[in-house]
Parts: sequence; structure tokens; C-alpha cells
Amino acid sequence: MTPISPVFSNISSGISKFRWTNLKTDPVEQRRAQSVDFMRDMPWVRDNAIATALTELNGLIFSTEDLDYLKKMGIEIPFYSGKEAFDFIEKENIRIIFDTPAEAGVHAQYDFYKNIITINKKYKNTTDFAVMLAIAEAILHEAGHAKDKDGYSSIQEELNFLGMNAVAHRAFLKKYTDIFSDSQEPIIKDGVSLYAKLFFDKDENKKALIKRIKEKYGDLPAGDRLHPPGKIARSAKRTIVDNTLYCYFL
Ligand SMILES: [Zn+2]
Repeated sequence: MTPISPVFSNISSGISKFRWTNLKTDPVEQRRAQSVDFMRDMPWVRDNAIATALTELNGLIFSTEDLDYLKKMGIEIPFYSGKEAFDFIEKENIRIIFDTPAEAGVHAQYDFYKNIITINKKYKNTTDFAVMLAIAEAILHEAGHAKDKDGYSSIQEELNFLGMNAVAHRAFLKKYTDIFSDSQEPIIKDGVSLYAKLFFDKDENKKALIKRIKEKYGDLPAGDRLHPPGKIARSAKRTIVDNTLYCYFL
């Protein structure tokens, strides 16, 4: 294995200040096990934040209990580990860039025609490790969209990928304890942290999750050929009846 490019040499040094209290094995060894040879595997990666995000994604392991929990909710996830997603990105030669998304406020998106994952350029040059972890989660989500090989989405598709985000976020929390807790960054506060809470809400009916999905994705079809809609997706569908009833009674 050739050494990691000097461009990314600050990645490992930037990690040392974080707590390792709940790691069972030596963090240096863990780091080595998950390190990525970008020069060999992804020579297009030039950005520190993307390199760190991909390295963290590659080492991300989901808890079996969390996966079982999602399954019971009717959520089918596209990747069962960060490594699966990482390998897919490499195999499919998906590029990851910072740029302006199509809609303001969007953290990340996948362009099916260009085969590019775009991360909102407001996070370019970030030195915040928590933001880099959130970028890893955004990449994981968008890789799910890429796996479908269609340019469309549905509520169930979003639920599947956001549910995967929730287990990914919990895996990062397990590894880096309270790293996200003080963050005011929208990609964390209104993104990855929020969905982890909503999916693992004690409310069996997941009312808060349904409300959020309805607001954000309610106009999409409840499901599609690859993602048949479950109960949550059907509840989150904003129906035409909602709007027309309002008009009828005016
Ligand atoms: Zn999505």
C-alpha cells in the first residue's frame, strides 16, 4: 500500500484531539484499518474535507440492533455499511464536489446525468470535523440515490436513505460521543442530528418524523417501482385533497 498523499496528511493529526473513551481497540490501529489510499483508489480527490468524509465513511459500521429497528419500521436501506457505499462510489466513478445546489438550503444532491454528488459550497474549506462527518452522511445518502440508476425519487426512497442516515449518525455518535451536540451548522442541526432523533423517536407512530417528511418530501410520489410505499410513506404523502378541500370551502 502506498502512503497517503501529503495533501491529506493533516487528516490523522486532526483526529487526535477527539475522545476515544468508547473504542475497544487502539485508535491508531482502527484508523489504519479504515484508511484509504486515495492516490490509488480515488486520485480525483483533492479536498481535505471530502477525503476525511470518505475515510470516515469507509470505516463506518452500523449496529445490528439499529438495522433491525429500521427493518421493523419498513425501511429498506441500500448499503449495510459505510464501506459498501464507499466501494460503490469508487466502482461507479462518482465524483464529489462542493458547488451551489439547485435549490437554496439543500445540503447535498446527486446529479444523475453527470454522476456527481454536490455538497453545498458553504461547507467548502471547513476545518470542523463534525461537519466532515455530516458530509460523510450526506455522501452516503446521495450514493443511495445513485444506486437506483434513475433520476427520480419518492417518499419511500427518501425514508430509506434518511433511515440509513439515522443509523450512520448513531454509529458516529458511538464512536465520537458528543461531537455534534454544540453544532449550529444546518447540515448537522437541521440535517443529520435531526433525522437520527426522528427515526429513533420513542413515539411508535413516528408522528414528528411523518410531519417532517410531509413538509420536505410530501409532494413526491409515496413510492415507486424500486421502493414500494410503507405505512409511514403513505401517511407522509401530501394529497391533492388537502389543497382542493381548502379551495372548496373558501
Ligand atoms: Zn434524498
